[in-house]
Parts: sequence; C-alpha cells; structure tokens
Amino acid sequence: MRIAVIGGGIVGSLIARELTRYDADILLFEKEADIGWGVTKANSAVVHGGFHETPGTDRASFCVEGNRLYESISRELDVPFKRIGAYVVAFSDDEVPALHLLYEQGLENGVPGLELQDRETVLTREPHLSPSVVAGLWSPSVGITEPWGLAIASVENAVANGLDLHVAEGVTGLDVADSRVKRMITGKGEYEVDAVVNAAGLFADRIAEMAGIAQPIISPRRGEYALLDKKVGPLVSSVIFPTPSDISKGTLVVPTIDGGILLGPTAKDLPAGDKTATETTRDGVHEAIEGARRLVPDLDLSLVVKTFAGLRPETPDKQFIVGQSDVDGFFQAAGMRSPGLTAAPAVAQYLVHEVMASALNLVKKRSFDPVRHGIRKVIELSGEEADALIEADPSYGSVICQCNHVTEGEVVEAIHRGARTLDGVKFRTRAGFGRCQGGFCTDKILMILARELNLSPGSITLRGGESEVLSGKVRL
Ligand SMILES: Cc1cc2nc3c(=O)[nH]c(=O)nc-3n(C[C@H](O)[C@H](O)[C@H](O)COP(=O)(O)OP(=O)(O)OC[C@H]3O[C@@H](n4cnc5c(N)ncnc54)[C@H](O)[C@@H]3O)c2cc1C
Repeated sequence: MRIAVIGGGIVGSLIARELTRYDADILLFEKEADIGWGVTKANSAVVHGGFHETPGTDRASFCVEGNRLYESISRELDVPFKRIGAYVVAFSDDEVPALHLLYEQGLENGVPGLELQDRETVLTREPHLSPSVVAGLWSPSVGITEPWGLAIASVENAVANGLDLHVAEGVTGLDVADSRVKRMITGKGEYEVDAVVNAAGLFADRIAEMAGIAQPIISPRRGEYALLDKKVGPLVSSVIFPTPSDISKGTLVVPTIDGGILLGPTAKDLPAGDKTATETTRDGVHEAIEGARRLVPDLDLSLVVKTFAGLRPETPDKQFIVGQSDVDGFFQAAGMRSPGLTAAPAVAQYLVHEVMASALNLVKKRSFDPVRHGIRKVIELSGEEADALIEADPSYGSVICQCNHVTEGEVVEAIHRGARTLDGVKFRTRAGFGRCQGGFCTDKILMILARELNLSPGSITLRGGESEVLSGKVRL
C-alpha cells in the first residue's frame, strides 16, 4: 500500500505523521524547499477555543477537539505551546450582546471555562487594555503555538517512523482510471499510488481538478500584520480579540510564543488567482496597527521589527472539505481556513483513523514512536546544562544570532535535521527572527550552511529555487 500526501503545511504534516502509525509506504510531497512555508508560515498562531464557530459545524467540532489535542501533541513533539487564555472585549453596550452570543455558542460547542466578566475584572487582569472596555468574554483554553515548528516536528517524527519525504517536488498531475487514483506525477518523476491525500492549502482546488473533481475555487483572503520585538515585555498576558465582525474575528493583539506581540490580521478578499500575493500594503499595515491600538493604546511602534501578510484559503461556504471524495483513493483536507491551525490535529486523526484506515484496510504497526526531541536551545537551558553541553561541544558556546541567542551548535543541528536554506535555519532555530531580522547573522549562517553541506557560498539560497543571496566576489 502506497499513500502520498500532497502538501507539507500543518495539515499535511500531521496527516503524514498519523499515517506512519500504519503498515504502509507513506510519501509526503511539498513543492517548496521546506516544510511549513505556505499558509502555515504566516498566521496569528492562536490555538482557538472554539466559541467563534457556529455550533453543529465541522469547524466547531474540529476546533474544540484540536484545541484539546494541542497539549499532548506539543509534548510528544517537543514544540512550545502555552495555554494563555483570551479575552474578547466589548467597547460599547451595543457590543455586549455579541459577547453573550459567543458565550452561548461556546457552551454549545463544549468550550471549557468560559466566563463573562465586567469591566473592572477585565482591566484588573489586563491593565493595558483601553479604558473604554465595557465587558469581556474570558476563554482560558485559548493557546499560542509555533505553527511551522509543529509542522517541522511532525515531519521529523514521521520520517523517524518511515516517512519518505520529498521537498522541492511539486505535484503536477494525477492519473485516474475507473474512478480510482492510480499514479501521481511530479516535477521529478512518476509514482504508482494506491491513495492520495490533498492537503495543498490554497492550491487544493488545483489538485482536486487534477483528479477530475470539481470543487469550489479556493480564494485568498489576505491578512496583514505588524510584529513587535520581545523588548515590548508583558504588555498583555492573553490573546485580545475585539468583538468579531461578519467577515473575521477582527484585528487582534497576540503575545507570540517567543515573547513578542503580534498586531493583526486585516481581512481583504483577493481575486481567486492571487494565491501568492503575500505582499504587505501601507493601508493594510496601518489598519492592523490602528485596530490593535483600539484594544491596547500604549503600543510602542518603534518596536515593530517586521510586517508580513498571510493568505487564508477561503471556500464560499466557509466550511472545511475533509474526507473521502468521489474518486476512490482520493482523500481531502482542503479549504482549511481559520481555525485550520487549531483544527489540524483533530482533522488529521479523523481523516486517517476514521476514514482512511477503514477505506484502505490499514493495519497499525507496533514500532511507531510518537516522541520527537527538539533542537536544544542553549538560552532555555539551566546554567549547569548549558555548561555541560558547551564542554561536550564548544560550538554551543558560540553565539551566532545575538538577538535570539542562537548558537552555532543549534544552527548545525538544524542543518543536520534538514535545513538547506537560510529560511530553513531561521524557522528551525529563530536565528534571524529577532530585532535585527538577520542583519548581523545572515552571513555567518550562510557560511555555516556552505560548510556543513559542502557547497559553495554562492549556491546557498534564502528559500530555495532561484533565491541565491550572493551574486559574486567583490575582490578577485
Ligand atoms: C492571516 C491568517 C491568520 C490565521 N490565524 C489563525 C489562527 O490564529 N489560528 C488558527 O487556527 N488558524 C489560523 N489561520 C488558518 C491557518 O493558518 C490555516 O488553516 C492552516 O495554516 C492551513 O494549513 P494547510 O496545511 O492546509 O495549508 P498550507 O500551510 O498552505 O500547506 C499546504 C502546502 O501545500 C503545498 N503545495 C501546494 N500545491 C502543491 C503541489 N502541487 N505539490 C506539492 N505541494 C503543494 C504548499 O506549498 C503548502 O506548503 C490563519 C490564516 C491566515 C492566513
């Protein structure tokens, strides 16, 4: 039995990992040079509670179950996850009924611990919130994570359990005969397959089309952000949502897993074909900042270190497309708009164990090991642990990224685990993610990549393809 997963975002990575629990050949194909560089790379990184979702929908049940699973999956895969809770705040009496609606919805969806709180309680817990707040909905189960880190960790664990990983290998065609998927064609070869999982994010409609399945066009909705450096300190201790609109959950203020603060996202619908339009705009960033300022007025904008945008894969009816399709052997986890990151662990478990296992008569193998250990981060070790590590390997004593205190040993470890590009190192170690945004460490990381991979510095890329960083020698 040979099963190919298309798409190495959070959804495909977790599905691939679940599949490696079974006795089958599992392959994962990702068109980019690394895992987690699609929608998974640029979002709010919030593990939602589930009170925003309409009761009775798949989105609601996958969201609440996914939230519950985050604790155990993050522990098994050694990925950071913090259940910091969230407030939805109302700024006028007119907005208070919306909080009650979210509360009722949350109760119906099984969201634990929801509380409607008065102004004083909210401001005591979050003193930097705007004094115009009139009430808040508190949801303690909301968390924050590192989305790409979880995707990379799932794939590392899946590879340890037998996954055959193909990065920089986009799927270009599927052969279907007698209403059954038979073969997959990529830019590098052809593969006989018994089953395929379409987890291609924004491009899932194109993959479905290759299988002859007409499904709604997946169109992008851009969300723009500004990121404040961790020097901002503990301005808020939980995720802050405004009262939502019909279009989105609104512009948030989100503590990031490594101590920064994220402001955004906006919500702008783009033409269906604009699936790579991740550029930021002056208006979008302005809107993200002003929306956040309405929640937390004292934002020090001199601490903005980065602006970026992500594209939500929107379906017309706003629902996920999860399950078996009309073509035998063609399974889908598509249209994974927000809260797709939260839902992903539950979607992966449902699709693999409840749909695919019986449809394909999959048999569990005994050897599956769910545990993966992350790269040791010297900054997070105790003094004694760091000393012991540096004594065993002095490269852990050489700091490469000053902003995030990432050492040479960590960069080398990232490369040995599969990083082939500057972004590959950055997303595995956070080197280049700090205040200088790589200004002081990019050259050093590039030279370490060249040394470890035995390549010329000129051939090292930012993110694969033709994104070389060096153009030639200054002095011959
Ligand atoms: C602005 C914004 C904010 C969000 N905030 C949150 C949030 O706070 N919480 C939450 O739960 N959700 C949030 N989401 C939603 C969440 O980010 C997505 O649901 C999730 O990341 C989707 O993951 P995915 O694996 O389906 O897609 P992707 O991460 O895009 O993965 C699909 C992969 O398929 C690859 N691919 C495409 N075509 C091919 C091909 N032909 N061959 C091989 N590979 C291919 C792509 O390169 C990509 O890596 C947000 C989304 C956005 C944009």
